[in-house]
Amino acid sequence: MIQKEFAIFTPGPVKMSREILDIGAIQTPYFRNQSFSDVLFYCEKQLLNMLNAPKNSRVVFLTASGTAGMESVVMNLLTKKNHAIVINGGGFGQRFVDICESYDIPHQNYKAKKTNLQDIDTRLDGTASDTLIVNAHETSVGHIYDLEAIGKFCQKNSLLNIVDAISAFVTDSVDMQKHHIDCVIVSSQKGLALPPGLTMVAMNPKALNKINKVRSHYFNFENYLKDGTRGQTPYTPCVSIVLQLEHRLRQIAKDGGIETTINKAKQMANYFRKNINHLPLQAYTKFMPNAMTTLTPTDGKSAFDIVCALEQDHKVITCPNGGETKHKVFRVSHMGDTDIAHIDILIDALNKFYEV
Ligand SMILES: *Cc1c(COP(=O)(O)O)cnc(C)c1O
Repeated sequence: MIQKEFAIFTPGPVKMSREILDIGAIQTPYFRNQSFSDVLFYCEKQLLNMLNAPKNSRVVFLTASGTAGMESVVMNLLTKKNHAIVINGGGFGQRFVDICESYDIPHQNYKAKKTNLQDIDTRLDGTASDTLIVNAHETSVGHIYDLEAIGKFCQKNSLLNIVDAISAFVTDSVDMQKHHIDCVIVSSQKGLALPPGLTMVAMNPKALNKINKVRSHYFNFENYLKDGTRGQTPYTPCVSIVLQLEHRLRQIAKDGGIETTINKAKQMANYFRKNINHLPLQAYTKFMPNAMTTLTPTDGKSAFDIVCALEQDHKVITCPNGGETKHKVFRVSHMGDTDIAHIDILIDALNKFYEV
């Protein structure tokens, strides 16, 4: 069933603004021309600006979901001669481990539990590796890592720092220079609040230098970078989503820049957390991003039953977990076109569920 009239709080897709939806409703224009090139140039420039990328950084625009960004980065930047430390704190960390296995990339699977890696120096030996891969925000459990500490660790040990910021960009700070990040993956359907289908890989000169010859036609970064110099992609891109991206980036710039947008996300997350304080729900982790809140019932109720009740009785869609944590946790996203009124819908529904 398409849940048209429901209030959505899932970590992707997220609530989109009216203007973004309107752009999606217009006829998709032809794109092999200067006006589309200008749009793509603008998007590349603004993304790099918002990531505080150093000079001569570039962006690859892929028409594919976020996982294609993760896989293509491993394909293009790593070979069997490399050795990567993969931070694995849940489903998305495990995905990087699986990808490394698929491509026979030597790696250490570091299972991160109950830590934001602020003390990474004491936990990991960086001397035997040349790459570190991390999901800035492990969306499966709503846990954010200390990108600053990780960046320092990478700098000290000369590791290529690859960050999946798919569910952190726009809501939480991701700064290529301050956090010593060489490659960042972002995707349309999370904080950017666009439809799914567009994934972007930003690389600084160090990462660009690592690009090797790959045995893939569609995911060959060299082709994207070459065509990108004239504002084009090698194959038909998701033109409409690129137009929506342009609008979204202009909006962020107009609203005061990325800092303002991150601060707003922080306010929204804090407002939600403060206003459910009286309910028998506990934060699942101390290290919460602005993007999301992960909650554990403390009164023995099943998290999955709560998600079902919110949907059936209150037309509010939150996100259940799978596997072992199905009954223990559920997730509430703060990404997207959200405001106090939208969050109040969820708070009201939770209050009614608990009859308070
Ligand atoms: C959503 C997400 C992805 C991408 O998932 P897709 O379904 O392939 O778009 C990757 N990493 C993280 C951390 C995510 O939150």
